[in-house]
Amino acid sequence: MQKTTQRYKVTIEGIVQGIGFRPYIFNLARENNLGGFIRNNGQGVHLEIEGESTDITSFITRIRNNPLPLAQITAISKIELPTLNESVFKIVASDISSERNTLIAPDICVCDDCLREMLDPNNRRYRYPFINCTNCGPRYTIIEDIPYDRPKTAMKNFRMCAACESEYHNPQNRRFHAQPNACPECGPQITLYDKTQKQITTSDPIQETIDLLQQGYIIAIKGLGGFHLVVDATNQEAVQKLRVRKNREEKPLAMMSLNLHRIKEFAIINPEEEPLLLSPQRPIVLLEKRNPNPIAPEAAPGNRRFGVMLPYTPLHYLLCDSPIPALVMTSGNMSEEPITVNNNEGFKRLAAIADFFLIHNRDIYLRSDDSVSRIFNTTPLVLRRSRGYVPQPIILKQSGPSILACGAELKNTICLTKNKNAFVSQHIGDLKNIETYDFFIQTINHLKQILDIRPEFIAYDLHPDYLSSRYALKQTNFEKIGVQHHHAHIASCMLENSVEGPVIGLALDGTGYGTDGRIWGGEVLLVDGATFQRLAHPEYVRMPGGESAIKQPWRMAISYLFHSFGYESENVLPLLEIPKSKTDTILKMIESEFNSPETSGIGRLFDGVSGLLNICHNASYEGQAAIELEMRSNMNQKARPYPFEWRGKTYPYQIQIAPIIKGIISDIKEGRGVGEIGFRFHLTLIILFSELCLFLKKETGLNRVALSGGVFQNMILLKGLYKSLTQSGFQVFTHSKLPPNDGGISLGQISIAKSKIQA
Ligand code: ZN
Ligand code: ZN
Ligand code: FE
Repeated sequence: MQKTTQRYKVTIEGIVQGIGFRPYIFNLARENNLGGFIRNNGQGVHLEIEGESTDITSFITRIRNNPLPLAQITAISKIELPTLNESVFKIVASDISSERNTLIAPDICVCDDCLREMLDPNNRRYRYPFINCTNCGPRYTIIEDIPYDRPKTAMKNFRMCAACESEYHNPQNRRFHAQPNACPECGPQITLYDKTQKQITTSDPIQETIDLLQQGYIIAIKGLGGFHLVVDATNQEAVQKLRVRKNREEKPLAMMSLNLHRIKEFAIINPEEEPLLLSPQRPIVLLEKRNPNPIAPEAAPGNRRFGVMLPYTPLHYLLCDSPIPALVMTSGNMSEEPITVNNNEGFKRLAAIADFFLIHNRDIYLRSDDSVSRIFNTTPLVLRRSRGYVPQPIILKQSGPSILACGAELKNTICLTKNKNAFVSQHIGDLKNIETYDFFIQTINHLKQILDIRPEFIAYDLHPDYLSSRYALKQTNFEKIGVQHHHAHIASCMLENSVEGPVIGLALDGTGYGTDGRIWGGEVLLVDGATFQRLAHPEYVRMPGGESAIKQPWRMAISYLFHSFGYESENVLPLLEIPKSKTDTILKMIESEFNSPETSGIGRLFDGVSGLLNICHNASYEGQAAIELEMRSNMNQKARPYPFEWRGKTYPYQIQIAPIIKGIISDIKEGRGVGEIGFRFHLTLIILFSELCLFLKKETGLNRVALSGGVFQNMILLKGLYKSLTQSGFQVFTHSKLPPNDGGISLGQISIAKSKIQA
């Protein structure tokens, strides 16, 4: 065959910056005897290659088939150019002028090569807590702007030493163009302080920190995406002290342990959970407790699971390598505030909680909480999508104008689209407090900047009081699209499963604003793109005191009693372990309909049942009453559901709650246990919604069901409904990449806004 020399301009788009892509291409070009160059640009990377046509083909095929583990290539295009007789391949400086279209890599856990070096006494980075390379280390949290080059990152103030510089410029080196490259000579440093900001003089701040942890102190430790509050998880007194100081009495605390072997001493790891723990995202994984275990009971009271993660930064590895089997590693904040990132802010906000501070001088540009995940049916189900996953885009079917979706109010995330990419932000949190609202605005602006997005449309929740909706309505130069909350839940589940309508959507949720101005949350919907129809919902009941009814589940218990027994409910009220003076007041509120909005929320029904069973009367965190009801329920093959029915000649059918409540009350009177009643209640909902779907299938012909909403964090319900619907012949869609809770709302808003724009 005749040999021909050709030259091409090649553009590669996707996540190709900040992950060692240029050295990879450099070496590949050399192997294929190609000349030319590569550089980062706004779209990704741009290269020109010159050589034999067969070599060019094999070069492109290799890129397509074997990209780097962290690369996510979305497009490769090539245009032929006149040859220039170039035989050497070079890496050239970034082209700043072009449009920014590139994808940014998430923060990635330290790689095995770096770990090996860090533990080698002969290596110049021995025990250096900021070791990294092109295959690992911080990305999203340290990027100020793109293109991703050192002066645009938190590393800009650290001037590389000669040794680091030579690695950085050597294409054969693992640290070639690794922007956060650093060593003990030239890079960030850690320092230990007491809470009065007095530096603790020590030659080994890490060993000193471990000693302090062993003595039971609380240490605020600055990590990758923010501060953690850290104590020895086996020290009961220390864990208790942390709870008291953090004003958060019962929410399970996340833990970190050196390796799987150590985790197995206090938790059970299934074969599917192991790769999730080990994945480069290093999420907190919800694992079943091993009993007995050495962990302080206060770490996760009232829960059958521990939230556990493996170390993800070199600093964490050094800290976990101690005699302490597990560390509590909870977000450095007061309850519900965003995680602290800045050193001064850390001292100010955490001094009331922490005894000591282990901090470093590399800035965090964008805070990012730890992600939380678990296994459902052998695949991961993300419950909080944050560090490690963000800003990896969800790929849309069709390109379109850029949209900003503002999300909901609790567990807020926002989402921005550009072409076919939907970028869901990290977990922002509960917008009701001002710090979180500031973080919400900062995240929108930062993501717009680093992704170079100028949205034309803005999508928001219909709830007029959500701060995210108010923000949306205040903006000018946008076309605004209001989206119903539960429509968004179902659309989010459909989008991540690439399902196009129509489907039956079961949105089982806490609260969401309905189109009738009432609070929805037990919605059976027919969803078809931009539109939805309400097919059925539980009968409305009152929420005495509005928001207070969410914080005090016993109020919902009274409301369900009144709903079911009317004026007879006085006779059953003594079952509640609540003083009569209080129950009387609430009963009057319900009767007079004073400050008692109506709700159809299944989340509220869980609260009410949890209250009736005296499991949880005051919730110290969102969803506590429902979680504890799930945890106390004992699965039983022989259990039978409570009576249920739905009524109505037209949509929406009214699901009757009274028969369920009456069934529960008669079980309580017969002296049946909480475990048995709790499970019967779950089973009732499983069978009720399965039969309702079968009934609706006859009417609508629909054979597909999408499950979404915060209540699907309940595994008894999710597993039970999935199984029962599947056995009934339905095709069932559930979440995996995005949470079923309100963290997934922003993506659902995007999906609906896109359909409305196209319509
Ligand atoms: Zn590395
Ligand atoms: Zn150096
Ligand atoms: Fe919701």
